[in-house]
Amino acid sequence: MVSPVIEFVEVGPRDGLQNERAVISTADKIGLIERAIMAGARRIEVTSFVNPARVPQMADAEAVCAALPDRADVTYIGLVMNGRGADRAIATGRIDQLGAVAVSTDQFAIANQGQTSDESVEAAKAIIAQAKAAGLTAQATIGASFGCPFEGEVSEARVVQMAQRLAEAGPIEVALADTIGVADPAHVARLVAAVRAAIDPLPVRVHFHNTRGTGLANVWSAVAAGARVVDASLGGLGGCPFAPGAAGNVSSEDVVYMLERGHIATGMDLDQLIAASAWLSGIMGRKLPGMVAQAPRFPKVTATKDA
Ligand code: ZN
Repeated sequence: MVSPVIEFVEVGPRDGLQNERAVISTADKIGLIERAIMAGARRIEVTSFVNPARVPQMADAEAVCAALPDRADVTYIGLVMNGRGADRAIATGRIDQLGAVAVSTDQFAIANQGQTSDESVEAAKAIIAQAKAAGLTAQATIGASFGCPFEGEVSEARVVQMAQRLAEAGPIEVALADTIGVADPAHVARLVAAVRAAIDPLPVRVHFHNTRGTGLANVWSAVAAGARVVDASLGGLGGCPFAPGAAGNVSSEDVVYMLERGHIATGMDLDQLIAASAWLSGIMGRKLPGMVAQAPRFPKVTATKDA
């Protein structure tokens, strides 16, 4: 049941940075993307096409796309919330995959996207259709799959039903996102198994934030329950020091360390990730939450790398 291989998606340039107060230069965003590729990432969420007045960090979406490394083997993902965003992403000619998000509860969906939960599912399906019509692929994400900041507990049956409806539109996978970092490993095991059964053979992707320290345990639980794709962010970016309760994504290097130690292949190079995390810490001007990059290398590297 447990796959010996997972697909890794680096989301630092979008989900990680979007939650950071300091606006990062386009050149540094490209530096981050280049380092993620060097570390082995072959799917990267590079930006989002949203209202720049609302999300200043993503105001350079087109400039980031224009400067993306020319790599046929890398899938660049652009997050979009509506048809207008999808038009912008497609118009760059550099985005390979559109990311669409539906939200599990009405109150969160209204606060986040100005629409009900059902409307957010229909909007996501329309984005998926738009991507396919333009010759792109699409991924679908269910935000607040494990809990809502407004409504609290989220019904598992509701998330399963949303996953089925999104799957009908033909995304490459459906993701369960713990947007506010409330998930626990037992909940993750149940929901991943239920959604997997509902959308089979479509893969389940998972997206965790480490707000309550359960992030890595949730990744492990999800993979054990059959999730095949895992989102993570270099350094655990996104933990804004000025916003109490806001915490970053699970850290790429921590996730890769854990999975590779468990003989689950990620395709990622841990040493390169650690180097990239150290570089990013310098760019952000602070220590990042990820732990593996701050600890001594284990096991010690004995062989010299290719000279
Ligand atoms: Zn997130």
